[in-house]
Amino acid sequence: MTAYPDTLLFIDGSWKEAVGGRSIAVINPATGAQIGSVAHASREDLDAALAAVEKGFAVWKNTPAYERGKLMRKAADLLRARADEIAVMMTLENGKPLAQSKMEIGGAADVIDWFAAEGQRSYGQMIPSRAPDVLQITVKQPVGPVAAFTPWNFPINQVVRKLSAALAAGCSIIVKAPEETPASPAALIRAFADAGIPAGVVNLVYGIPAEISEYLIPHPVIRKISFTGSTPVGKQLAALAGLHMKRATMELGGHAPVIVAGDADIAAAASQIAMHKFRNAGQVCVSPTRFLVQEEKHEEFTARFTEYAAALKVGDGMDPETAMGPLSNERRIPALEALVQDAVDKGARLTTGGRRLGNEGWFFAPTVLADVPLNARIMNEEPFGPVAVINKFSTLDEAITEANRLPFGLAAYAYTTDTATATRLGYEIEAGMLTINHLGLALPEVPFGGMKDSGYGTEGGSEAIEAYLETRFVTRKG
Ligand code: NAD
Repeated sequence: MTAYPDTLLFIDGSWKEAVGGRSIAVINPATGAQIGSVAHASREDLDAALAAVEKGFAVWKNTPAYERGKLMRKAADLLRARADEIAVMMTLENGKPLAQSKMEIGGAADVIDWFAAEGQRSYGQMIPSRAPDVLQITVKQPVGPVAAFTPWNFPINQVVRKLSAALAAGCSIIVKAPEETPASPAALIRAFADAGIPAGVVNLVYGIPAEISEYLIPHPVIRKISFTGSTPVGKQLAALAGLHMKRATMELGGHAPVIVAGDADIAAAASQIAMHKFRNAGQVCVSPTRFLVQEEKHEEFTARFTEYAAALKVGDGMDPETAMGPLSNERRIPALEALVQDAVDKGARLTTGGRRLGNEGWFFAPTVLADVPLNARIMNEEPFGPVAVINKFSTLDEAITEANRLPFGLAAYAYTTDTATATRLGYEIEAGMLTINHLGLALPEVPFGGMKDSGYGTEGGSEAIEAYLETRFVTRKG
C-alpha cells in the first residue's frame, strides 16, 4: 500500500519544512491513529510566502492566458495520471470511501480543464461612444495575489475551484489548506509545480487557521480572499476583509431543504436523495438535511429512506465494500449525539441510527429523525454529518415557507412531476442552487454558491472567474 507522506510547505517553488521545525499530527479517522504530520508555518514562512506570491503575480499576470491554459491542462493530466495514488492518501486522511476519493480527483482535473479554457474568454467590451472619435473599452485584469482558505471535507475539490479560477484569471495564490487532510491537497499543488507553473505563482501553507488568516488577510500584498467553511468563521473573515477593503468570496454552511411533492416518484426520489445524503458521511455543505414530504407520502418516503440508511455499509474507506466512512473529526461525534438527543427530547421519532459505531475511529451511524419540531436544534443548525430529518407538509405554500425559514441559502432539492410546482419552486426557493428531479449540482461549468448566511460569490461557471478580475475602463479620443 502507498505510504502516507509527511506534508511540507510549498513556497516560491520549493517544498520546505517550517522555519523552527514545528509540525502537526495527521490522524486516520478510521482508526484514530497518527499516520503522518504536516509542517506548521511560522511567521517567517508566511512572510516568505507573501514575498513569493507577489513575485509570482508579476510573472503570471504577464503570461498570456493561452500559455496559462496550457500549463493548467498539463497539471490536470498529471493529476489524472496520479489519481490512484492520491486517492489512497485522501481516504487515509479524510476517511471517505476510496471510490469517492477517486471521483473527487477526476472531478478536480475536469475543473482545471474547464477554467484553463475559460481564462481565454475573459473578454472586455467595446462600449458605443457618444462621439465618432472616442473609443471606450473595458479591460479585464487579474485582481492580484489571492489568499484561499479551504476545509477538510473535500481536501482537493475545495482547493481546486479557487486555485483554477485564480490561475486562469492571472492571479497568484497562497493556499491555506486543511491541517486534518494535508497530503492530498499537497499532491494537487505538486501536479501544478510539476507541470511547470513558475515559482511563486502557487504557494501552500498550513498552521493555525486563525493565525494565518489574521496575518494574510490584512497584508497589503493580498488583494482577494476566498474562504470555504462555517458561517461563523466566514462572517469573521468577511469582516476582516471588509476592514481592509479586500475582495472576498464566501462559501459557507447550509441546511438544504428537500421538497418531495405527493406527485413525485417516491421510490426513485428516496433512493437517489438518500445516496446523496450519506455521501462523504453527510459532511458536505450542500448535503440535503430538511426533508419536507407531502403528508400522504410521508410514511412511505420515511420507510424507504430509513431502509436505505439502515442497510448502508459503514466502515474503513479502504475497504471496497464500504459505502460510508467515518466522520473526519472526532469533535463531530459529540456534536451529532447532542443534536440527535435534543431532537428526541423534544418529541422527534428516531427511525434508525443516532449513535456512534464501534470504539475505534470516528464512525457514526446513518441516522433518520422523523416529525422533528421546529424548535429542535437540528432544525436550525447545520448537522454536517449523516443525519436526515424527514417532516411533512400539506400545501406547497407551507413547504416553501419552511424551506425559506432559515438564514441559510446554499442548496435546495425538489422532486415533483408537476411543472407548475417546479416553476414555482424555481422562483421562490431562497437558495443559490436548486436541483429538481435529479442531482445536478457542482459541475465546473455551472455556478456554485449561496445566498443569505451561506455566503456570496460563486465558485463555478463563467461568473467564478469574475471574482478574480478587475473590470477597468479605458477611453481614448482621437
Ligand atoms: P470550523 O468552523 O472550526 O472550521 C471550518 C473550516 O474553517 C476549517 O477548515 C478550519 O480550518 C477553518 N477555519 C476555522 N477558523 C478559521 C479562521 N479563523 N481562519 C481561517 N480558517 C479557519 O468547523 P469544523 O468543526 O472544522 O467543521 C464543522 C463546520 O464547518 C460545519 O458545521 C460546517 O458548517 C463548516 N464546514 C463547511 C464546509 C463547506 O464546504 N462549506 C466545509 C467544512 C466545514
